[in-house]
Amino acid sequence: MDDASQNDVSLDNVSADECRADKVADRALSSSTGSGRRGFLKGLGLFSGFLGLGGILKYGTQVFLLREAPTEAEKPRDDWAGSTVKSYRKLGRTGWQMSDISFGSAQVNDPDVVRLALDRGINYIDTSPDYADAMSEKVVGEAVAGRRDKVFLASKFCTPDGHLDVETPVAGIIKAVEQSLGRLRTDYLDLCHIHACNSVERLMAPNFHEAFDRLKQQGKVRFLGVSSHTPELEMVMNKAVDSDRFAVIMVAYNFKNWPDLSNIIKKAHAKDVGFVAMKTLKGAYHTVLSDFEADERNSFTQAAFKWVNNNPGVSGLVVSISRSSQLDEYLYASGKQLDPADLVLLERYDDLVAKHYCRPGCGECLDACPASLPVDDILRYSMYYEGYQRESEAIRNYARLGAGRSAAVCADCSAPCQGACPFDLPVRQKMLRADSLLSFCV
Ligand code: SF4
Ligand code: SF4
Repeated sequence: MDDASQNDVSLDNVSADECRADKVADRALSSSTGSGRRGFLKGLGLFSGFLGLGGILKYGTQVFLLREAPTEAEKPRDDWAGSTVKSYRKLGRTGWQMSDISFGSAQVNDPDVVRLALDRGINYIDTSPDYADAMSEKVVGEAVAGRRDKVFLASKFCTPDGHLDVETPVAGIIKAVEQSLGRLRTDYLDLCHIHACNSVERLMAPNFHEAFDRLKQQGKVRFLGVSSHTPELEMVMNKAVDSDRFAVIMVAYNFKNWPDLSNIIKKAHAKDVGFVAMKTLKGAYHTVLSDFEADERNSFTQAAFKWVNNNPGVSGLVVSISRSSQLDEYLYASGKQLDPADLVLLERYDDLVAKHYCRPGCGECLDACPASLPVDDILRYSMYYEGYQRESEAIRNYARLGAGRSAAVCADCSAPCQGACPFDLPVRQKMLRADSLLSFCV
């Protein structure tokens, strides 16, 4: 069996029985670990980290294969070897010339991979305290020691336990950033994002802004940024650009993006605000689509990156990198023009995932849900798990929602959310699958 068929999964199939997992998992957790879900999740984070997010978890009589990250090609081409960054663009008013393909560090656990990325010309690294229980910041810190001035470091107002609340006192926000600095072994962050910015209130929360101003005064943070997957994306990003407080915005941006971000990108560019694209692989389902040929799987990431960077308003993109082979493949697309064959491939991928992919920033179904579930967030965590192989992060995020917000309730719901989804997604089925994936493994 080849890798592709091993990884071959339906994006939606799930049985009702599988979806009772949360309660089962909770019961077993308290009896088998004695430390409860939270303690177990922390353990899982470490376990996954050591295995490079690949390995086997045994739970009861069930064995779960955590796949080695298949986000790169099955058969790398020889001419990809040793690829380097070929293009740099100005990151808005920061003045930094950013590598067009840059380093997302959510999954990295080997400082040598980060060092190799810097050797290959990547000069922008995105990290966060809540990536792999702060392991990302520690690994990045180890890797950039001695070459700090060659890299632009972006992190988040956050702790290893999650995003900071708007009510967090200024001193608490400052302390969290100082802890990031310690893990990153540096005196300053180039950029700190208000992350998971789901409202204008959070975007402009006085405590974040006061903390940033003080940190900037002390030379500990140079620029303020914002990142978001919110249903209020357009409103939040427009306000961020108009406010003149933010030097960079980071947004999910990919082929046939929804909502259309072209006006925001143009406006940011005109106001000298950097635009960093994330989620550029639109779910990264290419390696698990049985309808995709090997050649199509091999070409998909490069086509996706070329499409994103084809927009001159984009400063650069970040993609999660954890292995040196990904550098070969991904950086081969650096500085390259989009060609017609890329568009054909992207159209084909889009057709195949159109009824599966929950659009970041949508949220059209939220008001229809009687249980007030954060459907967009839960389906995004599920995408982290299935597409991006960020299993431990996905499971942790789901657990943080709390038992009262579990998608297990979808089993007994008539699913009014489905009528509200403009993309005709089988929302209930996807939510049940998400619950199965994200709660059963723990
Ligand atoms: S199926 Fe789930 S997400 Fe949809 S409306 Fe019902 S409870 Fe909400
Ligand atoms: S399920 Fe559909 S309506 Fe709901 S957030 Fe996703 S894409 Fe939007």
